[in-house]
Amino acid sequence: MGKIILFYKYVNILYPQQIRDWQKGLCTSLGLKGRVLIAQEGINATLGGTEKAIARYISETTAHELFVDLDIKFSDGAADHFPKLRVVVRPEIVNSGIPKHITADMGGKHLTPAQVHELINNKPENLVLLDARNSYESAVGTFKDAIKPPIKNFRDLPGYIDENADVFTGKQVLMFCTGGIRCERASAYLKSKNVSQEVYQILGGIHRYIEQYPDGHFRGKNYVFDGRVLQHANNDVLGTCYFCQIPCDEYANCINAVCNLQFIACATCRATHATELTDAPPVAQNIATPAQHTLASFALCCSPTCKELVQNNKVPVRTKAHKVALPKGSACSI
Ligand SMILES: [Zn+2]
Ligand SMILES: [Zn+2]
Repeated sequence: MGKIILFYKYVNILYPQQIRDWQKGLCTSLGLKGRVLIAQEGINATLGGTEKAIARYISETTAHELFVDLDIKFSDGAADHFPKLRVVVRPEIVNSGIPKHITADMGGKHLTPAQVHELINNKPENLVLLDARNSYESAVGTFKDAIKPPIKNFRDLPGYIDENADVFTGKQVLMFCTGGIRCERASAYLKSKNVSQEVYQILGGIHRYIEQYPDGHFRGKNYVFDGRVLQHANNDVLGTCYFCQIPCDEYANCINAVCNLQFIACATCRATHATELTDAPPVAQNIATPAQHTLASFALCCSPTCKELVQNNKVPVRTKAHKVALPKGSACSI
Protein backbone atom coordinates (compact mmCIF):
# COMPACT_ATOMS: atom_id res chain seq x y z
CA MET A 1 0.00 0.00 0.00
CA GLY A 2 1.31 3.43 -0.92
CA LYS A 3 -0.02 6.91 -0.43
CA ILE A 4 -2.22 9.40 -2.21
CA ILE A 5 -1.52 13.07 -1.60
CA LEU A 6 -3.66 16.06 -2.35
CA PHE A 7 -2.71 19.66 -2.10
CA TYR A 8 -3.30 23.05 -3.62
CA LYS A 9 -1.92 26.47 -3.14
CA TYR A 10 -2.97 29.81 -4.51
CA VAL A 11 0.30 31.56 -5.18
CA ASN A 12 1.50 33.79 -7.98
CA ILE A 13 3.45 31.62 -10.44
CA LEU A 14 5.24 33.75 -12.97
CA TYR A 15 6.42 30.96 -15.24
CA PRO A 16 3.92 28.09 -15.10
CA GLN A 17 5.64 26.23 -17.97
CA GLN A 18 8.87 25.98 -16.00
CA ILE A 19 7.07 24.60 -12.99
CA ARG A 20 5.26 22.14 -15.24
CA ASP A 21 8.48 20.82 -16.78
CA TRP A 22 10.09 20.45 -13.38
CA GLN A 23 7.04 18.73 -11.87
CA LYS A 24 6.62 16.44 -14.85
CA GLY A 25 10.22 15.29 -14.64
CA LEU A 26 9.99 14.79 -10.90
CA CYS A 27 6.73 12.81 -10.98
CA THR A 28 7.88 10.67 -13.90
CA SER A 29 11.18 9.80 -12.26
CA LEU A 30 9.33 8.71 -9.11
CA GLY A 31 6.68 6.68 -10.93
CA LEU A 32 3.84 8.82 -9.60
CA LYS A 33 0.45 8.99 -11.29
CA GLY A 34 -2.38 11.46 -10.97
CA ARG A 35 -2.79 15.05 -11.99
CA VAL A 36 -0.95 18.29 -11.41
CA LEU A 37 -2.57 21.48 -12.66
CA ILE A 38 -0.48 24.61 -12.80
CA ALA A 39 -1.67 28.12 -13.55
CA GLN A 40 -0.48 31.61 -12.87
CA GLU A 41 -2.80 31.57 -9.87
CA GLY A 42 -1.25 28.46 -8.28
CA ILE A 43 -0.93 24.69 -8.20
CA ASN A 44 -3.43 21.89 -7.62
CA ALA A 45 -2.29 18.28 -7.37
CA THR A 46 -3.51 14.77 -6.69
CA LEU A 47 -0.81 12.12 -6.85
CA GLY A 48 -0.39 8.50 -5.90
CA GLY A 49 2.71 6.36 -5.51
CA THR A 50 4.79 4.31 -3.09
CA GLU A 51 5.41 5.80 0.34
CA LYS A 52 9.06 6.30 -0.50
CA ALA A 53 8.32 8.04 -3.80
CA ILE A 54 5.72 10.30 -2.21
CA ALA A 55 8.12 11.26 0.60
CA ARG A 56 10.76 12.10 -1.97
CA TYR A 57 8.28 14.09 -4.03
CA ILE A 58 7.26 16.15 -1.00
CA SER A 59 10.81 16.94 0.06
CA GLU A 60 11.75 18.02 -3.48
CA THR A 61 8.59 20.06 -4.04
CA THR A 62 8.60 21.84 -0.68
CA ALA A 63 12.25 22.75 -1.22
CA HIS A 64 10.99 25.20 -3.85
CA GLU A 65 10.46 28.67 -2.42
CA LEU A 66 6.91 28.91 -3.76
CA PHE A 67 5.85 25.66 -2.11
CA VAL A 68 7.57 25.55 1.29
CA ASP A 69 4.34 25.75 3.24
CA LEU A 70 2.15 23.29 1.33
CA ASP A 71 -0.77 21.87 3.30
CA ILE A 72 -0.76 18.26 2.14
CA LYS A 73 -3.57 15.80 2.75
CA PHE A 74 -2.69 12.10 2.88
CA SER A 75 -4.74 8.99 2.26
CA ASP A 76 -3.92 5.35 1.67
CA GLY A 77 -3.71 4.45 -1.97
CA ALA A 78 -1.28 3.98 -4.80
CA ALA A 79 -0.31 5.15 -8.26
CA ASP A 80 -2.75 2.72 -9.86
CA HIS A 81 -5.70 4.61 -8.41
CA PHE A 82 -5.10 6.87 -11.40
CA PRO A 83 -5.06 5.95 -15.07
CA LYS A 84 -1.95 8.00 -15.84
CA LEU A 85 0.16 11.04 -15.00
CA ARG A 86 -0.91 14.45 -16.33
CA VAL A 87 1.02 17.60 -15.57
CA VAL A 88 -0.46 20.55 -17.42
CA VAL A 89 -0.70 24.32 -17.50
CA ARG A 90 -4.25 25.66 -17.33
CA PRO A 91 -5.85 29.10 -17.13
CA GLU A 92 -7.20 28.22 -13.65
CA ILE A 93 -6.33 25.51 -11.11
CA VAL A 94 -10.04 24.84 -10.72
CA ASN A 95 -12.34 25.30 -13.64
CA SER A 96 -14.66 27.81 -11.99
CA GLY A 97 -16.18 30.17 -14.51
CA ILE A 98 -15.53 32.95 -11.99
CA PRO A 99 -14.26 36.23 -13.50
CA LYS A 100 -10.49 36.43 -13.40
CA HIS A 101 -10.35 39.57 -11.29
CA ILE A 102 -12.11 37.78 -8.41
CA THR A 103 -9.11 36.10 -6.84
CA ALA A 104 -8.57 33.72 -3.93
CA ASP A 105 -7.06 36.42 -1.74
CA MET A 106 -10.49 38.09 -1.76
CA GLY A 107 -12.05 34.90 -0.34
CA GLY A 108 -14.02 34.28 2.82
CA LYS A 109 -12.45 34.07 6.25
CA HIS A 110 -10.79 30.69 6.87
CA LEU A 111 -12.07 28.89 9.95
CA THR A 112 -10.23 25.90 11.42
CA PRO A 113 -12.28 22.71 11.92
CA ALA A 114 -12.43 23.55 15.64
CA GLN A 115 -13.77 27.04 14.91
CA VAL A 116 -16.34 25.57 12.51
CA HIS A 117 -17.45 23.08 15.12
CA GLU A 118 -17.78 25.81 17.70
CA LEU A 119 -19.66 28.10 15.32
CA ILE A 120 -22.24 25.41 14.51
CA ASN A 121 -22.51 24.37 18.18
CA ASN A 122 -23.56 27.92 19.00
CA LYS A 123 -25.26 28.49 15.70
CA PRO A 124 -26.04 32.19 15.23
CA GLU A 125 -29.58 32.83 14.03
CA ASN A 126 -28.42 34.20 10.71
CA LEU A 127 -25.89 31.45 9.90
CA VAL A 128 -26.40 29.73 6.56
CA LEU A 129 -24.37 26.72 5.47
CA LEU A 130 -23.68 26.46 1.76
CA ASP A 131 -22.47 23.23 0.18
CA ALA A 132 -20.34 24.44 -2.74
CA ARG A 133 -20.17 20.99 -4.34
CA ASN A 134 -22.19 19.26 -7.02
CA SER A 135 -25.44 17.48 -6.22
CA TYR A 136 -23.94 14.01 -6.75
CA GLU A 137 -21.44 14.85 -4.02
CA SER A 138 -23.81 16.36 -1.47
CA ALA A 139 -26.17 13.39 -2.04
CA VAL A 140 -24.10 11.09 0.19
CA GLY A 141 -22.96 13.49 2.87
CA THR A 142 -23.21 17.10 3.95
CA PHE A 143 -23.50 19.37 6.99
CA LYS A 144 -26.85 19.33 8.73
CA ASP A 145 -29.29 21.92 7.32
CA ALA A 146 -26.88 22.96 4.57
CA ILE A 147 -28.14 24.40 1.30
CA LYS A 148 -27.33 21.94 -1.48
CA PRO A 149 -27.38 23.66 -4.87
CA PRO A 150 -28.84 21.44 -7.61
CA ILE A 151 -25.75 21.77 -9.81
CA LYS A 152 -23.84 19.15 -11.78
CA ASN A 153 -20.74 21.23 -12.38
CA PHE A 154 -18.82 23.67 -10.23
CA ARG A 155 -18.98 26.18 -13.09
CA ASP A 156 -22.71 26.48 -12.38
CA LEU A 157 -22.21 27.68 -8.80
CA PRO A 158 -21.70 31.38 -9.63
CA GLY A 159 -25.00 31.34 -11.55
CA TYR A 160 -26.70 29.67 -8.60
CA ILE A 161 -25.36 32.36 -6.28
CA ASP A 162 -26.59 35.09 -8.66
CA GLU A 163 -30.09 33.64 -8.78
CA ASN A 164 -30.29 33.07 -5.05
CA ALA A 165 -28.59 36.17 -3.71
CA ASP A 166 -31.56 36.84 -1.40
CA VAL A 167 -30.85 33.57 0.46
CA PHE A 168 -27.47 34.95 1.48
CA THR A 169 -28.48 38.54 2.07
CA GLY A 170 -27.73 39.74 5.61
CA LYS A 171 -26.47 36.26 6.54
CA GLN A 172 -23.28 34.79 7.84
CA VAL A 173 -22.46 32.18 5.22
CA LEU A 174 -20.28 29.17 5.99
CA MET A 175 -19.24 27.70 2.67
CA PHE A 176 -17.61 24.31 2.36
CA CYS A 177 -16.35 21.83 -0.21
CA THR A 178 -14.37 18.58 -0.22
CA GLY A 179 -10.88 19.83 0.53
CA GLY A 180 -11.29 23.58 0.47
CA ILE A 181 -10.04 24.53 -2.98
CA ARG A 182 -13.36 25.31 -4.62
CA CYS A 183 -14.37 27.64 -1.78
CA GLU A 184 -11.27 29.77 -2.16
CA ARG A 185 -12.66 31.61 -5.17
CA ALA A 186 -16.33 30.71 -4.77
CA SER A 187 -16.33 32.48 -1.40
CA ALA A 188 -14.60 35.44 -3.06
CA TYR A 189 -17.37 35.42 -5.65
CA LEU A 190 -20.07 35.47 -2.97
CA LYS A 191 -18.23 38.26 -1.15
CA SER A 192 -18.07 40.26 -4.38
CA LYS A 193 -21.89 40.37 -4.36
CA ASN A 194 -21.69 42.45 -1.19
CA VAL A 195 -24.86 40.97 0.28
CA SER A 196 -23.69 38.75 3.13
CA GLN A 197 -22.75 39.95 6.58
CA GLU A 198 -19.78 37.57 6.67
CA VAL A 199 -18.47 34.75 4.48
CA TYR A 200 -16.46 31.88 5.93
CA GLN A 201 -14.74 28.86 4.44
CA ILE A 202 -13.27 25.78 6.13
CA LEU A 203 -9.50 25.49 6.25
CA GLY A 204 -8.90 22.10 4.59
CA GLY A 205 -12.57 21.62 3.75
CA ILE A 206 -14.76 18.70 4.80
CA HIS A 207 -11.68 16.48 4.62
CA ARG A 208 -9.99 18.18 7.58
CA TYR A 209 -13.24 18.72 9.49
CA ILE A 210 -14.19 15.03 9.50
CA GLU A 211 -10.64 14.01 10.38
CA GLN A 212 -11.14 15.91 13.62
CA TYR A 213 -14.88 15.45 14.07
CA PRO A 214 -15.92 12.19 12.36
CA ASP A 215 -19.16 12.17 14.33
CA GLY A 216 -19.70 15.91 14.25
CA HIS A 217 -22.00 18.20 12.27
CA PHE A 218 -21.08 16.66 8.93
CA ARG A 219 -23.23 13.59 8.35
CA GLY A 220 -22.60 10.75 5.91
CA LYS A 221 -19.59 10.49 3.66
CA ASN A 222 -17.25 12.79 1.86
CA TYR A 223 -17.23 12.14 -1.88
CA VAL A 224 -13.69 12.32 -3.29
CA PHE A 225 -12.40 12.28 -6.84
CA ASP A 226 -10.09 9.33 -6.73
CA GLY A 227 -10.20 5.56 -6.41
CA ARG A 228 -11.59 5.68 -2.89
CA VAL A 229 -14.72 7.52 -4.04
CA LEU A 230 -15.92 8.10 -0.48
CA GLN A 231 -14.10 9.26 2.64
CA HIS A 232 -15.94 7.76 5.58
CA ALA A 233 -17.10 10.13 8.31
CA ASN A 234 -19.86 8.30 10.16
CA ASN A 235 -22.52 5.65 9.58
CA ASP A 236 -25.34 7.94 8.49
CA VAL A 237 -26.63 7.01 5.05
CA LEU A 238 -27.92 10.06 3.17
CA GLY A 239 -28.12 8.74 -0.37
CA THR A 240 -30.79 6.68 -2.08
CA CYS A 241 -30.53 4.01 -4.76
CA TYR A 242 -30.91 5.46 -8.25
CA PHE A 243 -33.06 2.49 -9.27
CA CYS A 244 -35.18 1.55 -6.24
CA GLN A 245 -34.75 4.57 -3.88
CA ILE A 246 -33.81 2.60 -0.76
CA PRO A 247 -31.28 4.34 1.53
CA CYS A 248 -27.83 3.59 0.15
CA ASP A 249 -24.60 5.39 -0.61
CA GLU A 250 -22.66 2.93 -2.74
CA TYR A 251 -21.54 4.66 -5.90
CA ALA A 252 -21.59 2.96 -9.27
CA ASN A 253 -20.14 4.28 -12.48
CA CYS A 254 -21.85 3.54 -15.79
CA ILE A 255 -19.57 1.18 -17.76
CA ASN A 256 -20.34 3.13 -20.94
CA ALA A 257 -17.26 5.37 -21.02
CA VAL A 258 -19.12 8.00 -23.03
CA CYS A 259 -21.89 8.26 -20.44
CA ASN A 260 -19.63 7.72 -17.39
CA LEU A 261 -22.53 8.66 -15.08
CA GLN A 262 -21.87 8.23 -11.40
CA PHE A 263 -24.89 7.10 -9.52
CA ILE A 264 -25.87 5.37 -6.30
CA ALA A 265 -26.96 1.73 -6.61
CA CYS A 266 -27.79 -0.83 -3.95
CA ALA A 267 -26.48 -4.42 -4.02
CA THR A 268 -29.79 -5.84 -5.24
CA CYS A 269 -30.08 -3.38 -8.11
CA ARG A 270 -26.42 -3.91 -9.01
CA ALA A 271 -27.18 -7.58 -9.46
CA THR A 272 -30.42 -6.98 -11.38
CA HIS A 273 -29.05 -4.31 -13.70
CA ALA A 274 -25.64 -5.85 -14.39
CA THR A 275 -24.85 -6.08 -18.07
CA GLU A 276 -23.04 -9.01 -19.58
CA LEU A 277 -20.48 -7.78 -22.07
CA THR A 278 -20.00 -9.59 -25.33
CA ASP A 279 -16.59 -10.58 -26.64
CA ALA A 280 -16.72 -8.56 -29.86
CA PRO A 281 -14.01 -5.86 -29.95
CA PRO A 282 -15.19 -2.50 -28.69
CA VAL A 283 -14.56 0.71 -30.55
CA ALA A 284 -12.57 3.92 -29.96
CA GLN A 285 -9.82 4.45 -27.48
CA ASN A 286 -9.73 3.85 -23.76
CA ILE A 287 -11.13 0.45 -24.54
CA ALA A 288 -11.00 -2.98 -23.08
CA THR A 289 -8.98 -5.62 -24.86
CA PRO A 290 -10.74 -9.02 -24.91
CA ALA A 291 -8.55 -10.09 -21.96
CA GLN A 292 -9.58 -7.07 -19.92
CA HIS A 293 -13.14 -7.61 -20.94
CA THR A 294 -13.45 -10.60 -18.65
CA LEU A 295 -12.53 -8.31 -15.75
CA ALA A 296 -15.74 -6.45 -16.27
CA SER A 297 -17.81 -9.11 -17.94
CA PHE A 298 -20.69 -8.17 -15.66
CA ALA A 299 -20.78 -4.44 -15.34
CA LEU A 300 -23.34 -1.86 -14.45
CA CYS A 301 -25.07 0.46 -16.87
CA CYS A 302 -27.16 3.38 -15.75
CA SER A 303 -29.98 2.78 -18.22
CA PRO A 304 -31.37 0.43 -20.87
CA THR A 305 -29.98 2.85 -23.48
CA CYS A 306 -26.42 2.55 -22.17
CA LYS A 307 -26.88 -1.20 -21.82
CA GLU A 308 -27.85 -1.54 -25.46
CA LEU A 309 -24.96 0.65 -26.64
CA VAL A 310 -22.49 -1.35 -24.60
CA GLN A 311 -23.84 -4.74 -25.65
CA ASN A 312 -23.75 -3.79 -29.32
CA ASN A 313 -20.21 -2.44 -28.98
CA LYS A 314 -21.29 1.00 -30.10
CA VAL A 315 -19.32 2.71 -27.32
CA PRO A 316 -16.05 2.13 -25.49
CA VAL A 317 -16.35 0.61 -22.06
CA ARG A 318 -14.39 1.66 -19.05
CA THR A 319 -11.75 -0.92 -18.27
CA LYS A 320 -11.45 -0.20 -14.59
CA ALA A 321 -14.74 -0.70 -12.83
CA HIS A 322 -15.13 0.98 -9.42
CA LYS A 323 -12.28 3.34 -10.11
CA VAL A 324 -13.16 6.84 -11.03
CA ALA A 325 -11.13 8.78 -13.53
CA LEU A 326 -10.89 12.43 -12.64
CA PRO A 327 -13.76 14.14 -14.42
CA LYS A 328 -12.68 16.69 -16.96
CA GLY A 329 -12.35 20.12 -15.46
CA SER A 330 -13.00 18.91 -11.94
CA ALA A 331 -11.29 20.10 -8.83
CA CYS A 332 -8.54 17.55 -8.68
CA SER A 333 -7.20 18.42 -5.28
CA ILE A 334 -10.17 17.91 -3.08
ZN1 LIG B 1 -31.74 -0.44 -5.39
ZN1 LIG C 1 -24.94 5.41 -18.76
